Amino acid sequence: MQDKPYFCPNCRSNRVKFSVISNYAQRFMKDAVTGAVQDFSEPEQLDSSEPTIQCLVCSFTGNEMRFVKQAEREPRPGAPINPNYM
Ligand SMILES: [Zn+2]
Repeated sequence: MQDKPYFCPNCRSNRVKFSVISNYAQRFMKDAVTGAVQDFSEPEQLDSSEPTIQCLVCSFTGNEMRFVKQAEREPRPGAPINPNYM
């Protein structure tokens, strides 16, 4: 995940509350006759260069880049526009 501001491109009111949706793989064995699940392995996180982010205000989900790009297009009001202002 990138250490950059997010802004939900859907509801455009949320910059703070998100959840990250990761893909996990968990191996297991199945009994061929009964179908019973046996031997669950520990979950392994799959490599994903771009995580899926969900907005906790409107439930929109999308690639992280969509949230980052929206924040770049519409910076938070009050953020210094002129870097020399300080
Ligand atoms: Zn949203």
